[in-house]
Amino acid sequence: MNTIPLFASLDTLSGVDGRRKKLFYRLIGDRVVDALLHLPTNLVQYRPIQSINEAQAGENVIIELDIISHVPNAYRTKPYKIICTDGKNMVELVYFNAIKPYLLKLYPVGARKIIIGKIDRYLSQATIAHPDAVFDKEHKSHLITHEVIYPLTTGITNKCVQRVIDQALLRLPNFPDWVDVDTRQHHDWPSWREAILATHAPKSTNDLSLHSKFRQRLAFDEFFSHQLGLQLARQHQLRAQPGIAQAGNGQLVQRLLTELPFDLTEAQKQVVDEIFQDMAAPHSMSRLIQGDVGSGKTVVALLAMLKSVESGYQAAILAPTDILARQHATTIVELVGKLGIKAVLLTAREKGKARTKILEQLNSGEIDILIGTHAIIQSTVDFKNLGLAVIDEQHRFGVEQRLQLSTKGYNTDVLAMTATPIPRTLQLANYGDMDVSIIAQKPAGRLPIQTKVISHNRLDEIVDGLKRMLAEGAKIFWVCPLVKESEALDLSAAEERFTHLQGIFGTRVGLVHGQMKPQEKDVVMDCFINQSIDILIATTVIEVGVNVPAATIMIIEHAERFGLAQLHQLRGRIGRGNQQGTCILVYGKQLTQVGKKRLEIMRETSDGFKIAEADLQLRGSGDVLGTRQSGMPGFKIADFAEYPELCSKLLSLANKEARRVCQEDPYLKGPKGEALALLLRIFGRDEAMKYTRS
Ligand code: ADP
Ligand code: MG
Repeated sequence: MNTIPLFASLDTLSGVDGRRKKLFYRLIGDRVVDALLHLPTNLVQYRPIQSINEAQAGENVIIELDIISHVPNAYRTKPYKIICTDGKNMVELVYFNAIKPYLLKLYPVGARKIIIGKIDRYLSQATIAHPDAVFDKEHKSHLITHEVIYPLTTGITNKCVQRVIDQALLRLPNFPDWVDVDTRQHHDWPSWREAILATHAPKSTNDLSLHSKFRQRLAFDEFFSHQLGLQLARQHQLRAQPGIAQAGNGQLVQRLLTELPFDLTEAQKQVVDEIFQDMAAPHSMSRLIQGDVGSGKTVVALLAMLKSVESGYQAAILAPTDILARQHATTIVELVGKLGIKAVLLTAREKGKARTKILEQLNSGEIDILIGTHAIIQSTVDFKNLGLAVIDEQHRFGVEQRLQLSTKGYNTDVLAMTATPIPRTLQLANYGDMDVSIIAQKPAGRLPIQTKVISHNRLDEIVDGLKRMLAEGAKIFWVCPLVKESEALDLSAAEERFTHLQGIFGTRVGLVHGQMKPQEKDVVMDCFINQSIDILIATTVIEVGVNVPAATIMIIEHAERFGLAQLHQLRGRIGRGNQQGTCILVYGKQLTQVGKKRLEIMRETSDGFKIAEADLQLRGSGDVLGTRQSGMPGFKIADFAEYPELCSKLLSLANKEARRVCQEDPYLKGPKGEALALLLRIFGRDEAMKYTRS
């Protein structure tokens, strides 16, 4: 099979040259096959009409017209008009920057022409500006009735793109299919070649939908290549790092369980079991724990770390913020101290002698558990034998950092945790190589949080309400909005509110924000946790992970500026004890439709998964995880925002197929190997091929 033409450089096609070359590369990609994957987004259909009066302004039509006269203009930038008639009514064809001799030849006076274009009306005068095509009556057979529209960029017209794609289509080879016959038949999918050809020649707008079997097949391929790439990398990792079996004798784990002031929920127990089994196996674990805010992930992680320690290894937990790392340290040090286990905090703040000592103790194995921020993945940090790395709030880190931690050279088991509920779709897309455990239940006795949506105009009433709540002993989070992603402005909004509320409530009000020194933050957080501060004004530094069970009220100013995932995270800071929580979402004047919808969703449900699904629909997949760093891969063909359910289905299927391939033919040496390699290459995942060489 000759696939070389597909991977030739795009500029081997005519039209991709000079100034346009760069534009084409940016718009389409730099290979011929990228042009094939540049799919149309629209279809303009032209309706044949007899009389111009049959059509509305804006309609695309085909009409026969007699040419009456030319009305040139002395200035090229002014319209050049060609007066025509349909037999009864006048129609003007209009050109700007016209070239007179060309138009005279194209529209000889007295001739009858078939004109294809879009109707405009100025003061009841019908015009067609720059007709899309002109035919003689004899050439009726060539008549176009529709035009396929591609995504464009300034400087490149649809016709240019069409020309390039038409050439690419001519180079489309025939090759064996990478999708199993059974799967293809089951879904009634065409071959890849057929799918490409049909997708570029839509007959109706239905053919542009992902529900069209042609496009669906291509979307599947896109997912399949992505999942296959992830799986091959994972397999390679497993082979290269055989992993360690951490079975332990269960003693430490058992002792912690008796120390805990509560029993694990069934969901926690089940996830702990899954983790322990995975750790005990002699391969390296790569597992994602997903559990809604407040579902109790920390203790699950702690049990896993103890399992590692009792198996003779060290464990580490990585948190995205300083506040969170310290909070974990407080909980963990206290709990495991009683078991004679040494747990230590390491952040960028531990400096000088203290730091050197920690590093030494890590290296000698004196420290069992290390808690920290990304300071712990620096190269100077050297463990004696790291058995388990936990990454809290994984969505805050890139895939890079996850890999960095696991490749510190100890065949470490990795446990990633995320509180942001990820729809299964995105989970597969981002973590298709990981095994997933879900904590599907929250500890008993939690009362649902009441959510109210209130206009900023009623801020005074809210403040009055606070007086009553404080009298009842409430602890209150007050979150100030993001202002155009500028930290400085963020801060000033928070400071202003702080001054305002301090004027009313005095020293019971505290302020915490991202630009404070870590030590200063600690002091404020401590005061909030241990009484003297009852209202904590905060920027989003408190967003993730913070656990203050006594806090029951959450006020979010300009809630409409936050994304759904973020609002859910913030709201998750309350209702963590056994008292009723109340969340007040305060919206400002500029409430958009989407903003309004978001607040409604927040009021209606506290189910993180539902919120995530809704978010996916409102915002598109890229943003759902609340941050771009999440590294959500971009898919060209599969449009999550538009077709969430179908994409989910296709992605799951692709995940299953990829897993099967990796089991049956991990080196892609079997009969389908060549085709699968081609698939990877088509979607630019060539690098995955290096994992197939032994
Ligand atoms: P998250 O999953 O959001 O990280 P945490 O691990 O911070 O949640 O737990 C939230 C709170 O619930 C903590 O105060 C924790 O001690 C408590 N908790 C965890 N598991 C249980 C349980 N099984 N029963 C009661 N409370 C629990
Ligand atoms: Mg947490």
